[in-house]
Amino acid sequence: MDVCIFCKIARKEIPSAIVYEDESTLAFLDIAPVSEGHVLVIPKEHAEKVHELSEKAGYALIDSVKKVSAAVEKCFNCSFNILNNNGKEAGQAVFHVHFHIIPRRGLKDEFRYEWPSKKLQNHAKLVAELKAALSQG
Ligand code: AMP
Ligand code: ZN
Repeated sequence: MDVCIFCKIARKEIPSAIVYEDESTLAFLDIAPVSEGHVLVIPKEHAEKVHELSEKAGYALIDSVKKVSAAVEKCFNCSFNILNNNGKEAGQAVFHVHFHIIPRRGLKDEFRYEWPSKKLQNHAKLVAELKAALSQG
């Protein structure tokens, strides 16, 4: 994709602070980190959302997310969140698949998110709808 900023980063047309690279993926520091050591892991293949990736790129991406996660834990000796936004309403701002790996240092970090849990309702209908969607492939 000519105009996609992460495709440009993958092609090295614009600079980034690369921490890991292999044939199919790249990991680099987020330019506006929510905590120190915030890394983005991307596939070199362009896709907007995670399920739109090819099978090969999807496997390679998860493999790199695992590798970088292990490095973040080792390097910073901390917990971390893995975050992947899909679509505008989910907070996606760059429409090229990416996983955020965000180091967490307890109350000292400023990263917060709401988790408004509710009682599970309509479970039979939801299960039926999701199963039908899954059976369609
Ligand atoms: P999202 O809201 O999940 O789409 O997150 C996009 C992330 O990409 C944000 O955290 C940005 O700070 C980050 N970002 C945007 N442009 C760049 C860039 N050129 N280099 C590194 N990170 C970037
Ligand atoms: Zn792209």
